[in-house]
Amino acid sequence: MQKTLTIVGGGSSGWMTAIYLNRLFNQSEQRLQIRLVESPDIGIIGVGEATVHSIRFFFAAMGLDEQELLRETNASFKTGILFRNWMAPVNGVMHEYFHPFEQQQLGRQLDISSCWFVQKREAQERYDQGVSLSAALMAAGHGPKSPQSRPYQGVVPYGYHLDASLLARFLRRKAVEAGVEHIQDTVTDVTVQDGNILAVHSAQASYHSDWFIDSTGFRGLLMEALGQDNWQSFEDALPCNRAVAIQRELPKDQQPHPYTVATALSHGWAWQIDLTSRQGTGYVYDGNALTPEQAEQELREFLGWDSGFIKCTHLKMKVGCRREFWKGNCIAVGLAGGFIEPLESTGLHLINLGARLLGTHLMQDKPGQVVRDAYNKAMNGFYQDLKRFIVLHYCLTNRTDTGFWRKAAASADYCEGLPEMLALWKQKICEYHDLAGGYATTFVDENYRYILYGMQHYPELNFAGCDELNQPFEELRRMSEKALQMTMPHGDYLRQYCQQL
Ligand code: FAD
Repeated sequence: MQKTLTIVGGGSSGWMTAIYLNRLFNQSEQRLQIRLVESPDIGIIGVGEATVHSIRFFFAAMGLDEQELLRETNASFKTGILFRNWMAPVNGVMHEYFHPFEQQQLGRQLDISSCWFVQKREAQERYDQGVSLSAALMAAGHGPKSPQSRPYQGVVPYGYHLDASLLARFLRRKAVEAGVEHIQDTVTDVTVQDGNILAVHSAQASYHSDWFIDSTGFRGLLMEALGQDNWQSFEDALPCNRAVAIQRELPKDQQPHPYTVATALSHGWAWQIDLTSRQGTGYVYDGNALTPEQAEQELREFLGWDSGFIKCTHLKMKVGCRREFWKGNCIAVGLAGGFIEPLESTGLHLINLGARLLGTHLMQDKPGQVVRDAYNKAMNGFYQDLKRFIVLHYCLTNRTDTGFWRKAAASADYCEGLPEMLALWKQKICEYHDLAGGYATTFVDENYRYILYGMQHYPELNFAGCDELNQPFEELRRMSEKALQMTMPHGDYLRQYCQQL
């Protein structure tokens, strides 16, 4: 018999899950009837505008046309993140480095990254610039695709900058066209029996279903109805629990950057995300140290350009995740399941993981506890892994200018195994095996290296280099020259090949 699934919530998590599961389960025959109930009175969070590169494959799996997606969401491309000010300046020069998505494998005897240390290249160049093609493209302001690139493929890996509200609208249209039932109603009550949700209710109607997805954002309405003791906070390790977001016009004559900028401020960090229509900015900060007014003031001063502001929003953030993402017949996806601050733009990525995993775990009529346990274990693993990776950005700082930064070094102590890994990576190069046993998905050893070495946490090696080990740098130089010829300035590409700008 056909099963029914009710998703409560129409933000990106609700619609991404709806489209993906609808396509997976209903492509050949209708096996799962999906309905999405969204409150017309409670808005979506409206932030979440940068992505990681793997989201491309999820959008492709959802059957979305890349050109249409770009046009409908005023999107630009993202090849990585430029981190600025995460360490103390040297001789008045601000510290900065790129974290590209690229995982560079050049090199015969040793990979290029290891060669970089052995050849002692830190004296002459930054690590990211020494080992990656993407860094050269980003520094030149070039986009990641060539005119010949196929949809969802580039010269280097890339993600997007998208308008969050337009994305939700676009996904809603696509889901409804594909057959997902859309109901505008506010859920006020949840009936639970024997640990399962029987129905959710509004003032006008009741919605019964075999399965429920909680995509109600930070509220976690359905999960909270199933039990209160189901949340683990990460605030000891990641104290930023508030954000202020400001949308503004793109500074005049500025081409959209093909990367996100993440600049460390006094009690957190600010994002700058260039869309084709405007710039999204925001300050993620420790709300125990700054008031919202102080944070907004600091952000406005940092932006330093007081015309063209479009709107300002203050947000509280619940940092942590569910112990059980799947309880009874209800699964939390998106912010209802958990949230880790957006330093590496992972919100949509975690939705992608949650929805994909759900697809494979729901392929049985009556999945038992063993299936729920497996899902919960994997989701917890993803969040714990990501927490460690985000903490890495903070704990390596040498900034001491505020209490926030003085405390940051100790944040590693709240991540199991991280202090030992940091000690190890002082004596050897970081490798895949050092992270084995984890739930690495998007961030693996290459990504750790960009952060470790971008923050100058270098291994102290006593090993003599040789000419042979310069070969990968020569190869990378040739590849960079070719890539720069194949690609073009980001704004020009958007204008000519995506009908943007
Ligand atoms: P929401 O967008 O909050 O949607 C909740 C939905 O539930 C709404 O449709 C609402 O109407 C509905 N709802 C709520 N209560 C009820 C009810 N009672 N009845 C019916 N419907 C109800 N992610 C990234 O990938 N990249 C980023 O750069 C990024 N930046 C972020 C910056 C900040 C400051 C924050 C806080 C988050 C950021 N995220 C980012 C995370 C990202 O915003 C979310 O993962 C994403 O938007 C998904 O949100 P959601 O759908 O879970 O919740």
